[in-house]
Amino acid sequence: MGAIWRKEWIRPYESAWSVFEKFSYANIINKSLILRTFGTEDVLSIKNNHLGNHVRDLLTLNGLDELKVTKQFQVNVHSLTRGVIQNLLHPLGNTARKEEWFSLHIRWCPKCILNGYHSLMHQFTLFEICPFHNEPLKDECPACRQKTPYILSDTYMSSAFTCKCGYQYADLSTRWLKWEVDTSKFINTDIAKWIAPEHLKTSNERFIYVPENLNFNMLNQVTEKGKGNPFIESSFFTYKIDPSGDALKDKVLESLYEEIFMDNRQIFKTIDKHIKKTYRLHLDCIKRLQLLLKEEQDDFPPICPIAYAYVFWKQSSLSLPNFYGPLQGVPNRGKEKRQFNVVCLLYKERLSHLFRAANKTLSYFGSVDGDALRWIINKTTAYQLYQMFINWLDFALLNSKELSKPKGNEYEKIIHSNMFFLFVLKRENERILLRFICTRINKNRKINISTIDCRRWKNKGKSMRSFSPLAVSMMIDQKHKELQVYVDQYVTKLNL
Ligand SMILES: [Zn+2]
Ligand SMILES: [Zn+2]
Ligand SMILES: [Zn+2]
Repeated sequence: MGAIWRKEWIRPYESAWSVFEKFSYANIINKSLILRTFGTEDVLSIKNNHLGNHVRDLLTLNGLDELKVTKQFQVNVHSLTRGVIQNLLHPLGNTARKEEWFSLHIRWCPKCILNGYHSLMHQFTLFEICPFHNEPLKDECPACRQKTPYILSDTYMSSAFTCKCGYQYADLSTRWLKWEVDTSKFINTDIAKWIAPEHLKTSNERFIYVPENLNFNMLNQVTEKGKGNPFIESSFFTYKIDPSGDALKDKVLESLYEEIFMDNRQIFKTIDKHIKKTYRLHLDCIKRLQLLLKEEQDDFPPICPIAYAYVFWKQSSLSLPNFYGPLQGVPNRGKEKRQFNVVCLLYKERLSHLFRAANKTLSYFGSVDGDALRWIINKTTAYQLYQMFINWLDFALLNSKELSKPKGNEYEKIIHSNMFFLFVLKRENERILLRFICTRINKNRKINISTIDCRRWKNKGKSMRSFSPLAVSMMIDQKHKELQVYVDQYVTKLNL
């Protein structure tokens, strides 16, 4: 095939996506034809025109024949891609999977893309800015707000570098004159260090983490040893290496699951107690909301933000059906299951991921210690639960007066935002040193909270009684029907 191509058009760290866009532009052919031309035997044997996304995937390049591509492009795009991926994942250790770290849709730098350049580094979700311009990355078309999947397809693009809606990502007025200008020079030093060759030398540190809870800035503080950084807090755990303890036996694992569940329950109680102690001046406010107390003639009183935060923190973390009702103990069910289980189900999946990652990383160091695994899960649980309360509090300060509950993705944000943590594992002679590092909870919000004055309710509380749906349904006064509607509406407005 006498195609128009120069190997100089491929620049360092370039993604397969922009390589094929360039080829598509220079030769005025669409992506389906590229796939038909460079496809593997398997792809070519598919008669149907509807090739699935797995053969179009630009991260694995599964559907493209390495030899054919290399021959045409004079650069091995497959190995270039594999190399950059490996390079980017390396600091994350041997548990990192590329599916977790590369965006499924295209993210680009507005400055790079003008020159027809897109990098795999833009796809790496830990980076939020372009390493070459420090420019925030974009992920939706500025004109039509569509996201484009990271695949070789014509469905979302009308032609090369052009969105279906007609918006042009690259400056095509200069044709391909700018494609050889190498602008891939790092100006972000943290990113440069992340992928620097020195980093590739085996370090004796390993990270244990949940991908969603990692943040690039925090990771850099870790590698910089967090010198006097107000952003992070850390704590330690060490144990002696047991040469015979490379993996936990099934029996040991089962009882460890049970211990973790019991620890988890205890941690919930401790945090619960801690919150109530910290905000003891608002215990009446909490009681008022929890038991739906009000004066006979009045409406429900305004909700104190702290009561709001506490009551909904509890409802969400224990997955309770209602926010109101008499105080109950923390559930005990679940420990008998002989598998990983926790009290707060919101975090079960992430904690279970963390447990597996920790188990794998500790065994990589040759000695899995049950107490270390317990410590990892316990530290994380305490951090998540308390941070979630803080998130509820932030939400309550803005919303408790509105009598509303989180809408859309607000709930998701309360559960997961502002939670960045990881464990750093290091071998020192015959010991393993574990360090827990997390973002520090912003203490400034206390200023805000101290201005909340609930004392004006203090005396009124005496004559209040419970108007929970159940209590109201048992009343036999005349106004009962009306009241029932009022209470039901009130509760529905708030219940998660
Ligand atoms: Zn850029
Ligand atoms: Zn568009
Ligand atoms: Zn209060």
